[in-house]
Amino acid sequence: MLVMRKTLLFAVVLSTAGLAGLVLQTLAENLPGYTDTPMLPSGKWHVHDPKRPQPPVVTPAAAFSLGAPAPSDAIVLFDGTDLSHWEGDQGAAPWNVHDGYMEIKPHSGYIHTKEKFGDYQLHVEFSEPVNPEDPGNSGVFLQGVYELQIYNSDDNHIYADGVCGAFYGQSPPLANANKKPGQWQTFDIIFEAARWNQNHQFVRPAIVTVFQNGVLIHYQQPLLGPTGHRILANYDKELPATGPIALQDHGDIVRFRNIWVRNIQDEEKP
Ligand code: MG
Repeated sequence: MLVMRKTLLFAVVLSTAGLAGLVLQTLAENLPGYTDTPMLPSGKWHVHDPKRPQPPVVTPAAAFSLGAPAPSDAIVLFDGTDLSHWEGDQGAAPWNVHDGYMEIKPHSGYIHTKEKFGDYQLHVEFSEPVNPEDPGNSGVFLQGVYELQIYNSDDNHIYADGVCGAFYGQSPPLANANKKPGQWQTFDIIFEAARWNQNHQFVRPAIVTVFQNGVLIHYQQPLLGPTGHRILANYDKELPATGPIALQDHGDIVRFRNIWVRNIQDEEKP
């Protein structure tokens, strides 16, 4: 009898483990993503690979640079009142401004700064929509071409290289440091543009360091090239030394406020 019970118990454990395995497998199969995309240079993951591990969740502190006033030499790109520093593809920036923030007008197009920047320190605040139907997809395009993803990664599941704070299709953030939809969040970005020499030979990739809500999510991370969907980014085409900062309209209603930038001067090396 005891043997039978043990056998039964063993069988139950086995079948439970089997069921758990099946559930895990089913979950993995149902995760959004692609496996028919190119492999990333690490050779471990496809672009938008559903099996790539999700970044660990780190709960940010209540405030870091939230509401940080611009330093004296910063160029204030948005102070909550107007879009005079921005334009859309057809001229004036078509997004809405209310009560100290700008809000995406869905399907009106990306907006970008009139001014262009090379290497810089950038502060951006954003807020995800509270509407559960709205995944809050937007993004900050550095130099107009590299997307630092904005997404409601608190409630919505997406492949690791598509979560909020990812360099889309390339590098998941080191941590998921998201706040809840409706809460204001910060990106503090240090961006160095890619370099080509005078003979138009590629010298080195763009390099970024990013804090989201005070949590380091990228550290001196090289970028593979301008962002695309389902492609392996590359530097086949030489980029201008400077470019605009652009904000993505993905059809979702994300808000932005308090955006300022400081150009980085070359630092004398010891
Ligand atoms: Mg996006």
